[in-house]
Amino acid sequence: MMATMLVDVDHLLADPIYDPDRCSIGFHPLHEPLVMPLYFLLLIHPKTRIVGIGLVVHMVLDSMDCQFTNGVWFL
Ligand SMILES: [Zn+2]
Repeated sequence: MMATMLVDVDHLLADPIYDPDRCSIGFHPLHEPLVMPLYFLLLIHPKTRIVGIGLVVHMVLDSMDCQFTNGVWFL
């Protein structure tokens, strides 16, 4: 599960690091809607499934954060 924390590295690259009014989805390079199918692909293989679950859960949490702060699911 630690590997899934790496996705948060791109949060750290952002300036400011955390902005409650900002939507992570679509802002960070690893949070682009385009890369999400890749995270779902990780679910297919048993060896990468645990990482895939972590990443998908992370994206869901980030988009929920988006939804609550901005009233939108994406961007
Ligand atoms: Zn995130």
